[in-house]
Amino acid sequence: MNAPADPVAFRAYVRRFFDDLPSLLDEPVGASDGDDDPRQVTRARAWRAALYDAGLAGFGYPVEAGGLGDQPELHRIYQEESRGRVPSVEAVFGIGIGMALPVVRDHCAPALQQRFLRPGLRGDEIWCQLYSEPNAGSDLASLATRAERDGDEWVITGQKVWTSGAQHADLAILLARTDPSMPKHRGITMFVLPMGQPGVTVRPLRQMTGVAEFNEVFIDEARVPVDWVVGDLHDGWRMGTALLAHERVATGTNSVMGSRDEQRKTGRNPLPVPQLVRLAQRVGRQDDPVVRQQLALAYSGERIMRWLGERRAHPSIGKLWRTRQGRLAADIAASLQFPGAVGWEADDVEADYWQYHVLNCRGMSLGGGTDEIQRNTLGERVLGLAKEPVLDADVAFSDLLRNPSR
Ligand SMILES: Cc1cc2nc3c(=O)[nH]c(=O)nc-3n(C[C@H](O)[C@H](O)[C@H](O)COP(=O)(O)OP(=O)(O)OC[C@H]3O[C@@H](n4cnc5c(N)ncnc54)[C@H](O)[C@@H]3O)c2cc1C
Repeated sequence: MNAPADPVAFRAYVRRFFDDLPSLLDEPVGASDGDDDPRQVTRARAWRAALYDAGLAGFGYPVEAGGLGDQPELHRIYQEESRGRVPSVEAVFGIGIGMALPVVRDHCAPALQQRFLRPGLRGDEIWCQLYSEPNAGSDLASLATRAERDGDEWVITGQKVWTSGAQHADLAILLARTDPSMPKHRGITMFVLPMGQPGVTVRPLRQMTGVAEFNEVFIDEARVPVDWVVGDLHDGWRMGTALLAHERVATGTNSVMGSRDEQRKTGRNPLPVPQLVRLAQRVGRQDDPVVRQQLALAYSGERIMRWLGERRAHPSIGKLWRTRQGRLAADIAASLQFPGAVGWEADDVEADYWQYHVLNCRGMSLGGGTDEIQRNTLGERVLGLAKEPVLDADVAFSDLLRNPSR
């Protein structure tokens, strides 16, 4: 369906679209509404297909590959009208739409753009990110998963870990080593890996929240078509950091946030302040001056988070602020819920919701690069401070001392 090009008509059209969003996307909070719930994925695909078919998905993507092209004014109107109305199941596409597709658009040949952009934007294909390994997290350049050419295919072997959403992903953006004789930041290539094949085994990791949001992924001679390379051969470090910049923007600026009333257990969103206010009212502490001060602080933090996004501050600043806000909001919820914050009945759905956020907020400081790494980035690249000493930048990866891996 074509959205109207006239800005006034377009605004009314977007409003109507969100008014009419099918009720199947709305469900009350429940014990099984975490990121590992397959119903989330069904709802997510339905939401995204509706958005795409209404002609509202793909601003900034080439028309030939299923996008809407550059339409800054309509895009701005869409952002204004969709704020706070995007269902939180959109988070299922955080890696594909928020990170992988922009890199595919910017660094792949038109044929690969044609292959991946339309199904990605429409939610027909869900992506995950295969970067971290048991021996390569902050020091990502130490990754040891290898890719070897075999005729018309690449053969991939290695182990990845902390892979969010791998359990329902169709495709993965993968970093693998293609030339171990080069120093560790070179000789890496970015690939697109089809997940549904015999060489890929996904094992869920259950977190202390009770939700299995991320996974271990074992890759044993998995196959990738020879041209499913993003950017150039051995240029994967540059591609990898380009994608991470999108990740920090996404996790830093709150671009995906469901309705502020919606109580869902999804990974990276700080608790919305209106929910904290209602919690304070429910436990009868809304007039307590200390609680009021905490709520005012959280409210300011939420506004600052939005302004940082609107100002397009450095992504590391947005990310640091967002994780700080996540901890602050969770601490307030925990203090209001006391003693429920430390123990609750298994069937107490409401307490379970607050608990999820209390326990989950720490992980926000790790995913997408830890707080310390964000500070290093700001210190070195923004403030121009002395760089951390690096002793292995010119040593062949194969000559480095490493823990044994697969
Ligand atoms: C919720 C969540 C989702 C995630 N999703 C994904 C995903 O989808 N795909 C994926 O590939 N990965 C994912 N990750 C992994 C994430 O990217 C890593 O956890 C992160 O990069 C840190 O790596 P690490 O866990 O190996 O910790 P380490 O790198 O071992 O760090 C341990 C500690 O040392 C500190 N440290 C390390 N190096 C330095 C340094 N140079 N200076 C100062 N301090 C330092 C760190 O800040 C940290 O406190 C996810 C993680 C979380 C928590």
